[in-house]
Amino acid sequence: MTEAAGDLSWDDEVAATTAFWQRLGLPGLLDVHTHFLPPPVQAKVWAQFDAAGPKLGREWPIRYRGSVEERVAQLRELGVRRFSTLPYAHRPGIAGYLNDWAAQFKREVPESLWSATLYPEPEVAAYVAAGIEAGVEIWKVHVQVGEFHLDDPLLDPVWAVLAEAGTPVVVHAGHAPVGNDYTGPASSARVLERHPGLAMVVAHMGAPDFTESLDLAARYERVRLDTTMVFTDFDLGDGTPPTYADALLERLDRQRDRILLGTDFPTIPYPYVHQLESLERLGLGDDWLRAVCWDNAAALVGAEPGTPGQERPAQEQPGGRRG
Ligand SMILES: [Zn+2]
Repeated sequence: MTEAAGDLSWDDEVAATTAFWQRLGLPGLLDVHTHFLPPPVQAKVWAQFDAAGPKLGREWPIRYRGSVEERVAQLRELGVRRFSTLPYAHRPGIAGYLNDWAAQFKREVPESLWSATLYPEPEVAAYVAAGIEAGVEIWKVHVQVGEFHLDDPLLDPVWAVLAEAGTPVVVHAGHAPVGNDYTGPASSARVLERHPGLAMVVAHMGAPDFTESLDLAARYERVRLDTTMVFTDFDLGDGTPPTYADALLERLDRQRDRILLGTDFPTIPYPYVHQLESLERLGLGDDWLRAVCWDNAAALVGAEPGTPGQERPAQEQPGGRRG
């Protein structure tokens, strides 16, 4: 990211972001990976980031620290037409509180993607069933923060129910930013082996294991990868634009229908538009950007509230597994 990008005024951010999607002829942006948490929880998360805590391993100056209302207004001004809230439980007993708050958020911000989290605990099957019934649009689990195995036996029936419902589940299981015993692509592969119809969205494209994540998306029809913080100057940690192997770029191009825009707004150390520029400079073209920044997610979750994506009712054969 250039110095100038970091110094953008809010008006310049809006202008640059709007110019990006208007040039592509899109109605705006659809961002599957943003966070809104109850303010006391958000404050604790941000305190971790401010302290460059052990789960981060580096300085992480947060750019968007306004109130919930201010941040919703910011996304709207940027032209983000739909966005998630993705609460995540870091311990047992907290998912209900987080999910209640997220449900209230959905009532107040109708274009948001109704989000909920889950955790391996005795009540999980009941509250996931209730959430599906109520209309939760996207789920989130964070094994790096929550320190559990994705294939924990308590979650097995839950994955079965979610695969049946077809509701996307954003899974942060990658080693980045700091791996632990629970991270890495192996547990995602084991869960998909047992539940091949699960609409898993691999957060951060599974960084740093891009190839393994693209392999999962090639093998299982409903697997998606979100771009959250990937390809940015922050990705390598030294503030320089990263470069990628031709083989990776070729796969990103070939598997373009599996990639979804995600950003991690508000907890990002650069302007929102930097994620968009980072995708653009991969050089994969405007059709690729349109697929990633709008079309793929619109197909998955719907372009408008109340208009579910075309993919969810259209069940392929159980499993949806390719040869
Ligand atoms: Zn996130």
